[in-house]
Amino acid sequence: MELRGKRKGRAGAAAASLVFFLSVCMFSPAAHAAPEDECEAGRHQYAEILRVPATAMEDGEVTYLCGVCGRQYTEILYATDHLWGEWVVDTRPTCTRPGEKHRTCGRGQSHDEYAEMPALGHEYKPSVTTQPGCETQGVTTFACVRCGDKYTRPIPAVGHDYEEAAAEEPSCLEPGVRRFVCAHDPAHAYEEEIPPIGSHSFGEWAVETPAGEGAEGLEARTCARDGFRETRVLAALPVPVSEPGKISVADIILVGANVGFLAIFALLFIPYLVCLRYIKKRRDAVNRRDALRKKVEERYDFK
Ligand SMILES: [Zn+2]
Ligand SMILES: [Zn+2]
Ligand SMILES: [Zn+2]
Ligand SMILES: [Zn+2]
Ligand SMILES: [Zn+2]
Repeated sequence: MELRGKRKGRAGAAAASLVFFLSVCMFSPAAHAAPEDECEAGRHQYAEILRVPATAMEDGEVTYLCGVCGRQYTEILYATDHLWGEWVVDTRPTCTRPGEKHRTCGRGQSHDEYAEMPALGHEYKPSVTTQPGCETQGVTTFACVRCGDKYTRPIPAVGHDYEEAAAEEPSCLEPGVRRFVCAHDPAHAYEEEIPPIGSHSFGEWAVETPAGEGAEGLEARTCARDGFRETRVLAALPVPVSEPGKISVADIILVGANVGFLAIFALLFIPYLVCLRYIKKRRDAVNRRDALRKKVEERYDFK
């Protein structure tokens, strides 16, 4: 705060200093009117010559006199119990620059008190100017409601918020799949494989074709989950054979048939062989006789 009540060259004075004042005026009538920069010494050599202290309710004053040129001036000492009026704003403060105000005291000699009004500082209001994405930063813009000054701050990416959207359950041997979709953006999705159960859930084996004597059978079982059907062969039952040492009718018939066949074969084939042998002997004898006759004929030449 600053009191600007200094009154240079004030002619009026308190009664106590009147005599001295008059003597000074007579000695140097124009002293109080002389410009400050005009003094023989270059600078006035002021000295306090009179002081009337201020009281709570009454102003006082101090009078100074230049010992070189005789110029004098008086400073008012304001009454200490001021009667301040309302503050009056002279210059409104801004966000960055201080303002100024003053108030006027109504006691004694009117005087003003000036005070600086501090700069208001910015009053920023935030607003989201770019929404953050799952993987991209957003932007918050802070703008001053008074002057519009602004700055920005990044908003961290929010990250994905995956939720299970659909599932295809695995079967006995085929894998399933689970699909996840981001709650913020359905374009963000991924799938996860669910491993297969790994085995069927079969019921009991059931005979479909019973095995017979010498004929294979078939039995099957079915998976309760996926209906997969598995079959396996039933071994053929053994064919019954005759016991050794006991001759059945069939055996007798079989042996009899074979013996009969062999007998008929022998009866037909042996005479045939005998005939062949006889015919060959006869032919050899004829040939030998003819050869002998020929030799004899050549030797004795019957011709
Ligand atoms: Zn002077
Ligand atoms: Zn005052
Ligand atoms: Zn501002
Ligand atoms: Zn996402
Ligand atoms: Zn199965």
